[in-house]
Formats: sequence, structure tokens, C-alpha cells
Amino acid sequence: MRFDGLIGNSGVKKTLETPFHAYIIHGTKGSGKHTLERILTASLVCQSKEKPCGKCDQCKKFLSGNHVDVAYIPTDIKVRDLREKLKDVLYLPNEAEHRVFVFYEAEKLSPVCQNTLLKIVEEPPSHAVFIFLTENAGAMLATLRSRCEMIAMEPVDEKEIYGYLQRPEFAKISDERKKTAVAFSGGYIGAAREFLSEEKSETYLKCDRFAKAVLQNRMSDAINISTFKKRDEMADFTEELYLYFTVHLRSLQKGTSEGLSEEIRSLGKEKLAKLCVSLAKLKENMKFNVNVSLFSAALIAACREMRKAEPILK
Ligand SMILES: [Zn+2]
Repeated sequence: MRFDGLIGNSGVKKTLETPFHAYIIHGTKGSGKHTLERILTASLVCQSKEKPCGKCDQCKKFLSGNHVDVAYIPTDIKVRDLREKLKDVLYLPNEAEHRVFVFYEAEKLSPVCQNTLLKIVEEPPSHAVFIFLTENAGAMLATLRSRCEMIAMEPVDEKEIYGYLQRPEFAKISDERKKTAVAFSGGYIGAAREFLSEEKSETYLKCDRFAKAVLQNRMSDAINISTFKKRDEMADFTEELYLYFTVHLRSLQKGTSEGLSEEIRSLGKEKLAKLCVSLAKLKENMKFNVNVSLFSAALIAACREMRKAEPILK
């Protein structure tokens, strides 16, 4: 199978050398699950020797989103409709060698639907292939999981992500931003791409401004940045801020610094670790009834801890 487009993941590529009739592709958001699913599905319908070729009739039909033998089944499907769809499994494919049934966010399939799938997934006709994608394979029924080949998406080396960001589509983005995106990617191409989106860029700058305002004792700026009208915005900001400090902490642990703020890194591991713990607690509290107007104060109080002077030991 040709894996153009899927970076890294040598273990995954090796697993796929042996064909199987049901796969669960799992990994975090942005880890390449969809890219892999498209390569796999295209390979299953492609007519060429080198699969997927991307050029044959079958590949073209699939790539344009209308191949009769490929079915994307919504995971909020009712069991009655699923049974109806599964009747197709028994019929020979119309054009390709295989019939492929794909389920995105497979953890959202109801237990009744998962149970309905069990038998057919266990002993499908040789032309049928099932592909389940999920961020949380643990939330799927163990009985269904055990009948599938588990494919775990692997983090990619940071150098490979930086290399990927040299593609022409990223030409307008500064090198510094690319390095920051690599640091925030956690080893996932999709996460690096998302980091460079307009929305995420704004969120990142907001966290950066907030952290520096607290550090430099510009409290009115810090309050302005962290005051929200809506609970959801507040929760998102806390989540992003947690990520912001975690990435800086991790960079100290790994000894890499590219694309990150020296001012924040100079706080040191101990302070950053404490701060991450405080933010994790605040995130947890957000699940309960938090007063939005008091939240900014709580957030700033947590972050002010990092300004406290180091105890003088000598
Ligand atoms: Zn082809």
C-alpha cells in the first residue's frame, strides 16, 4: 500500500501490510486517522497494482465522494436503519473488489448498534471491510473491539512536522510561528495545522498576552484579557491556558526551546508544574457551578503564584 500523505507512523504502515476485514483506527484529534482511512479505503477500491493510485476510475470516484461501494454510516443511526444498511454487506460489490463501511466517531454508536455489528464484523463475506475511527477506543464495546485490528496512530517526530510545514501552502507563515506550531503539535500533523488556523492563532496570542501581563504585574491587562461573559468561552480559555503552560513545561523537560517564550520558560520547571496543577484544578471546578464574574480573579490568583520570588537558599 502506498502511504503518500501519511507522515511517520511506520508501525501503522507495517500492520497494514497484512489485510484484515475490520479495523479500529484510534488516536487523538489531528493524529491522522482520517488521512489513513482515506488511504486505506482508496486502496480497497483501487484497480491498479500500486494501491491507491489516485488515477484509476475507482480511485477517482472515491476521491470525488461518490463511490457506490463505499458507505459512510452516521454513528447516530437508529438500530433499525443500521440493520437495513447491513443487508448490503452480503451483496457483492458493484464495481470495486471490496465494499467498505466506514464509521467516524465510532464511540458514539449506541451499544445496541455495536451489538448488531458484532456478528457481521466477526464473519463478514470476504469482500466486506469495516473501518471504525475513534478518539476513544476504550468507549467502544470490548466485544466489538476484540473483533477488529486495532490501529493506534503514532506521534510523529517534530523534525518531520517542521518539514511538513515547509510545504507551499504554509509559505505565508513565519518561521517562528511554524516552530511554535511544532512545539504545540504534540507530535501530530493535524494539531500543528490547527494551531496555525486563524482561530487558534488568536487563542494562542491571548494566552501569551495574559501570561506575560500577569508575569509583568500588569493586572488590569490581565483582568481585561480573562474576563468573559459566557461560561463556554471561559472554559475554553482555561483549557488553552493549561495547554500553553504545559507545553512550556514539557519543553523544559525535553530541553527544547524553539518557538516558545523564554520569559515563561525562565520560570523554571517547579513553578510551571505547580501552575499546571492549579490550572488543572480550576478546569475541574469549571464543571461545577462557577460564578463567571469571580472566575477571572481565581484564574489570576492561580497565575500570580508564579510571580512569587524564589526562596533565597544561601
Ligand atoms: Zn486507483
